[in-house]
Amino acid sequence: MIIDIPTKQEFFDAAETLIHGAWASLVDLVAGGDELALAFDTEPELSTNKLQEYWRLARPTLISSLSLVQQAVEFYLKAEIASVSPYLLISGDVRRWPKQYEENDTRFPDFRGVDAQDLPRLYNTVTSKRLTADVSMWFHDLRNRRNRIIHTVDSQFAITPAQLAETVLRAHEYLVGERQWLRSTRWYLDTTPTHGVKLGSDAEHEAYIRLKLHQEVASIVPILPHEAAVRYYGFDEELEAGSCPACTEVFEGDKFFDSRWTDGFLPTLQSLPGPSRRSACLVCGSAFWFCPECDAYSVETTNGECLACGYLTPRNSQS
Ligand SMILES: [Zn+2]
Ligand SMILES: [Zn+2]
Repeated sequence: MIIDIPTKQEFFDAAETLIHGAWASLVDLVAGGDELALAFDTEPELSTNKLQEYWRLARPTLISSLSLVQQAVEFYLKAEIASVSPYLLISGDVRRWPKQYEENDTRFPDFRGVDAQDLPRLYNTVTSKRLTADVSMWFHDLRNRRNRIIHTVDSQFAITPAQLAETVLRAHEYLVGERQWLRSTRWYLDTTPTHGVKLGSDAEHEAYIRLKLHQEVASIVPILPHEAAVRYYGFDEELEAGSCPACTEVFEGDKFFDSRWTDGFLPTLQSLPGPSRRSACLVCGSAFWFCPECDAYSVETTNGECLACGYLTPRNSQS
């Protein structure tokens, strides 16, 4: 019999780990570029030269990250196929299967897997989902770009940080769901050696993770085109916005927290459509009303009391 058969969840977790591995390199590079720009902000010409050099040196990392994204996409597809039957992922006719069957069980990884180029067809045939024509094209293109990277050295090939960010976010939206990225990033952080082993209290751990999520939003959103920032993060720079009182409270769970750490953070508490002057935080999801006393979004939607000044919103204006 076949043993060590991977589950849908195992394929899915492997995909998430790959895509976030690519993303972590990207976020580090963008944050490094921002620091460099800041260090030379009084010398624009030197800053431009330094940044050009920086991104030239970053090219191999961006390219290998793109390759990880392609591998992640294959694993997301395999997860869905495995939910129908993992045996569908075994390729070739029976005569070519591993030979030790007469005496021993055969491990699933010893079988040759289905080729990457056949995965969309297999996925479309056996699952209830179906890749749309434009996603199939996009998948094909992504695989071609990846093949150019791994089979040869193409000095013309380049990908910008913004293109890589959009590739990751688009893949995740399509294969995992809309606006799942930050939730998934949180999951990933908890599985990394750096964050998974809790060093302090739960409050300190939560503060650390929440700061990390805000740092990511502050690094990545500014490099995205406006519509991509709205689509993938729900961040619209044209909306009334402020900092989130709930996230600030969590940051303060770190006993060394310094408010200067949040200087470059984006106003993630974004106003919601409608007349009620309500807003929600795109990182933590907490919702607040506008406090006329504080001139800020700081009234808790559950009890109507302002977290900053204690002002109690009249019940009839809470709609
Ligand atoms: Zn928040
Ligand atoms: Zn107030």
